[in-house]
Amino acid sequence: MATAETKLSMKLLIDTKAKKVLFAEVDKDFVDFLFHILSLPVGTVTRLLKEKGMNGCMQNIYQSVENLNDSHIQWKDIILEPKCPFKISSVPLLLNDAPTLTTFYNCPFPSSLCCDKFYGTDDSSALCPECNSEMAGRLTFVAPPGKVATGGFVKDVKYLVMDDLVVKPVSVISSITSFKEYFNVKDFGALHEEVVHFGKEEALKLLKLSFESRAVLTSLFVSSIKGSVKGEK
Ligand SMILES: [Zn+2]
Repeated sequence: MATAETKLSMKLLIDTKAKKVLFAEVDKDFVDFLFHILSLPVGTVTRLLKEKGMNGCMQNIYQSVENLNDSHIQWKDIILEPKCPFKISSVPLLLNDAPTLTTFYNCPFPSSLCCDKFYGTDDSSALCPECNSEMAGRLTFVAPPGKVATGGFVKDVKYLVMDDLVVKPVSVISSITSFKEYFNVKDFGALHEEVVHFGKEEALKLLKLSFESRAVLTSLFVSSIKGSVKGEK
């Protein structure tokens, strides 16, 4: 489980002639992080990118909701701070997005004592429609058969992430032939490996770049590329 200080490491393959990152060789945890982004509500992404500046108008929608007072709008918190229905643990949370989890509650009295209907709520101050008790019975999430809530998303150990964030299992691009075809590399001598670290700052930049660029890793690790280019001379 990642903490606030977590930094993931990855190995970049840099083409020093073209001055770009061809791909990063990453462990499962980075791919889990990357895929986890897709599960974030747009409201969360907008909140995360508001200060970084965001293309388009989504931040205006967000700001409009923020500006409306309670006489005009209800459920504001659901829009501005969307909650996740449950937590997949083992996914590094690098986006200050330790998701506010939805906890579900029911009437604390067994159905035989209270009612024959099952009521649920995400706010324990809600009152049971049958017996008027506070619905403070906290429910525990149970994963369905074949799935575990603690294993992250992907199952393999190593992946390649391309400059444009296409993700592939390492085995797909293992031979030199497919390597040549895939990256159009003519001068293998210009290739340079560099281990870099990826933490919260990089995570937020990646999120922003993913909406704006098709050369995300190159933009993200531009200083490592410059270092490699100098090293080659
Ligand atoms: Zn009840």
